[in-house]
Amino acid sequence: MLCVIKEVKKQMCSDAVFNPFVVAQRQFDRVADLLELDEATRALLREPMREYHVSIPVRMDDGRVKVFRGFRCQHNDALGPSKGGIRFHPQETVDTIRALSMWMTWKCAVVGIPLGGAKGGVICDPHDLSAREQEGICRGWVRQLAKVVGPLADVPAPDVMTNAEHMLWMLDEYEAIHGGRFPGFITGKPVGMGGSLGRTEATGYGLIFTVREALKEMGMDIAETTASVQGFGNVAQYAVELYQMMGGKVTAISCWDQVACTPFAYRKTAGVDLGELRGVTDRFGGIDQEKAAALGYEPIPGEKWLEQDVDILIPAAMENQITAEAVGRISGRVKLIAEGANGPTAPEADPLLVERGIVNIPDFLANAGGVTCSYFEQVQSNMNFYWPRDEVLGRLDTKMTDAFLAVSELARRRNLSLRDAAYVIAVDRVAKASKDRGWV
Ligand code: NAD
Repeated sequence: MLCVIKEVKKQMCSDAVFNPFVVAQRQFDRVADLLELDEATRALLREPMREYHVSIPVRMDDGRVKVFRGFRCQHNDALGPSKGGIRFHPQETVDTIRALSMWMTWKCAVVGIPLGGAKGGVICDPHDLSAREQEGICRGWVRQLAKVVGPLADVPAPDVMTNAEHMLWMLDEYEAIHGGRFPGFITGKPVGMGGSLGRTEATGYGLIFTVREALKEMGMDIAETTASVQGFGNVAQYAVELYQMMGGKVTAISCWDQVACTPFAYRKTAGVDLGELRGVTDRFGGIDQEKAAALGYEPIPGEKWLEQDVDILIPAAMENQITAEAVGRISGRVKLIAEGANGPTAPEADPLLVERGIVNIPDFLANAGGVTCSYFEQVQSNMNFYWPRDEVLGRLDTKMTDAFLAVSELARRRNLSLRDAAYVIAVDRVAKASKDRGWV
């Protein structure tokens, strides 16, 4: 509980100074300058093309009606139907949703999937709501937006504090309104109910496909490398799984300690045993300290994950972890960072990494495996024909590899960082599609 209060206070303080939409627009302005975009294209891409603010009345368990506020922002759909998650969060703001919808546009564009960017949210805390009340919010959100979302227009997905159950309630409401079965309306469904095999591992595996390609270009054998990972949740666990399958050795892992409300890390120079560590990890990615120690994992302070003498760092937990100050603590051996989390590197740290010759695969490329597999789910659902896991992961490998190679080729040709090159490719694709459609 103390943790929750601290977190809420931290967020309330930071919201006063941190507006993600301002950040997203600044990033866009920089790339627009690099691409020398005209005024009309800038004006179009700086804001969501459409945004909806809805009121969702829900009859609560005590008989009263409570009205929840919800949003959907469709940033740009020049490349195809827009795609993006729905968040349930008590501190949700429309500016967060606007920023996230813009980032979804760039993420889909950089991996070359024919989708635009969207994001949605409802101001609510599922912890304080019964399952019936949450169902009411899901169905109410769809009732308000059923005319402007859909398999050919805008495809939602799970996000912060929403899950497969929420998606199925939303799908059921959409199908009741439109009279039919439209599994392609939403992604994140369970396998057997329109979900795709491979989705659980897609983000972590996608990350490692880009790591494999980067190491090849750097002339390094993945089987000779070591890595330190921040986080041990969905992204990190599957990244470690594939990295180890390719012969790499993970020597340190960190996670959040729920009891002490602080990060915590574990080191094993012989290499962590994934199965063993998963066995002492809860469903939130928290590792049990006593059990890990009994298995021979050396406990170290949480921030030390960054200071390990390894070749690769994989931040796969939180934003703003690699700050300018933190760059000074990174070992001279580190050659590569692969951003599993969203926004783990502070903007002022980027040029310092470049100076040190550390290659950084940017978040919206490195962690795009999730949305790529969601796109595969959408395709399979629209066909009502589902692929075996190997086919899903094979297609994922092709998409991630092609995207990485295109970004690194541009980075070399124009002497850009991978992040700038990825932005240039993404924004250019969306700007061209908007122009080709005659919008600007
Ligand atoms: P998760 O909730 O499954 O796991 C998060 C992990 O981070 C847990 O192990 C937790 O203990 C750890 N953690 C939290 N705070 C920490 C801290 N300060 N120091 C060290 N460890 C800490 O989350 P996830 O799905 O693995 O997502 C991780 C990141 O990747 C997030 O930034 C998320 O937005 C991003 N991401 C996830 C996906 C996806 O498909 N899951 C896709 C794209 C991006």
